[in-house]
Amino acid sequence: MIDHILVGVAWPYANGPLHVGHLAGAYLPADIFTRYQRLKGRKVLMVSGSDCHGTPITLQAGREGLTPQQLIRKNHEAFLKTFLTLGISFDLFTQTFTDNHYATTREFFLTLLKNGYLYKDRTTGSYSESLSRFLPDRFIEGTCPHCGFTRARGDQCDNCGRLLEPTELIEPHSTIDGGTITFRDTEHFVLDLAKLEPSLRQWLDGTDHSYWRANTLLATQNWLREGLHGRAITRDLEWGVPVPVDDPAFREKRIYVWFDAVIGYYSATKEWAQLQGQPERWREWWDIQKTRSYYFIGKDNIPFHTIIWPAILLGSGIQSLPYDVPANEFLNYEGEKMSTSRNWALWAHDIEDRYDPDAIRYYLAANAPEGRDTSWYAADFVRRNNDELVATWGNLANRVLTIAHRHFGRVPQPAAFQAADTELLGAAREAFDTVGASIDRVELKAALQQVMGLATRANQYVTAQEPWRLVKENPERAATVLYVSLQVVDHLSALFSPFLPFSCARLRAYLGYSIGKESESRLVQTTDPDGEARNILVNSGDHKSRWEPRDLSPGQVLSEPQPLFAKL
Ligand SMILES: [Zn+2]
Repeated sequence: MIDHILVGVAWPYANGPLHVGHLAGAYLPADIFTRYQRLKGRKVLMVSGSDCHGTPITLQAGREGLTPQQLIRKNHEAFLKTFLTLGISFDLFTQTFTDNHYATTREFFLTLLKNGYLYKDRTTGSYSESLSRFLPDRFIEGTCPHCGFTRARGDQCDNCGRLLEPTELIEPHSTIDGGTITFRDTEHFVLDLAKLEPSLRQWLDGTDHSYWRANTLLATQNWLREGLHGRAITRDLEWGVPVPVDDPAFREKRIYVWFDAVIGYYSATKEWAQLQGQPERWREWWDIQKTRSYYFIGKDNIPFHTIIWPAILLGSGIQSLPYDVPANEFLNYEGEKMSTSRNWALWAHDIEDRYDPDAIRYYLAANAPEGRDTSWYAADFVRRNNDELVATWGNLANRVLTIAHRHFGRVPQPAAFQAADTELLGAAREAFDTVGASIDRVELKAALQQVMGLATRANQYVTAQEPWRLVKENPERAATVLYVSLQVVDHLSALFSPFLPFSCARLRAYLGYSIGKESESRLVQTTDPDGEARNILVNSGDHKSRWEPRDLSPGQVLSEPQPLFAKL
């Protein structure tokens, strides 16, 4: 019986801070989905961590005068702060620089080697004479042999769109110091994707993937159309997981960061199980009879999750392949693509302490890049906060609670319901099914629109019924209308809670519930392989609330309400 859900979230690369595009693309949608699944009572495990290895980390560390370990520590701590502040409720947020992850990566490598899916190959590497090191393709620039564009990258020409090899570039040089690039012979281990292609195709074509998003399907089919060929999974560099073979030629090489990062999904479940004191429980999350796995990523990472990671799993004899990869498009900033190198981005640390976390979550979810690119516009953020969050949902909850608290002090006892009452109550109860179905399909934007639509409808009901007039003229009817309104606000607090967890928790307290900890993460200290202390995020929620219409009890004592949201 499938009752487990593994939620893998893109591993943020620890060479710099997070921007709102990362939040909208992967972390917030994963959190909304996971909070909902917890409310449904499903066994859900949401894992990720800082991606710590590779050349860009060593180069960035050098620029900042830090060691790679110091750089990843700095960025890892910043990630943790952002996730805690914005309520991204990981069951485990760790990093790839752990003994457990190194051991797991070695195991995958050796299993693939034993199963005949790795081979050694001599290739040509791009070598910077001035830096005395090999450089990845994206740090190589030169003139495109096809169109003459002078700033073509070693992997692709942004002008004519052709895929390139660094050796094809005219006058290749490094983007780091402009120095000349020469090409040197080097030996690497290669993942035999050609050999794995038949089983990959059998999985992709032989089972239904029609529920995948169009961009996920398209990017995957584009890769397959070209035919799969081997990809080197080792690199000439000094920072990363050592290659576990007894061969002097590989002493100075490391496992390619992309190979070890996706294995992080697997190693993180092991670390989680160890932290639970049940070291074998990770197996449940890789049992295809029990678990569905979802991977929340940006569109730039699709083939790594629909081809490379499934190939690694298949080659290792693991059948639990991704069930869904709900990749998002990009969130831009003021209409322009965010870029770290051009320093054009809205950084998480610039907004996380400045605005209510639920205001940020609301705008990113309502404006999610599902199916197409969207953009963070400062003026639009203010407008949607004021016109939608404050004026519709905040206003509904506040005026209903204020009148009820002032005139009754507790949930009033209703008299007979009228048609308008039962219609609204019915719609609110039904929303649990319709909104839940949307979230199960990872249509989060639509789900939020449905909940906001119900809040609009409830507002119209309150405006039409005028309970502030009824309390003077017809107290019995006032009690009924306020009971219905409070009941619907209570249902809405559950329906909104995956999206707006902080304000919904406050609201439940105003409604007189003693609130448990739902989906709360906390910091736990652990130790890095270099002996330094480090924090990780684990979940400490009690997960007692449920995704179901709960009957509000007449007589329940209300607390004095405060406005849920502030106008900007
Ligand atoms: Zn070109």
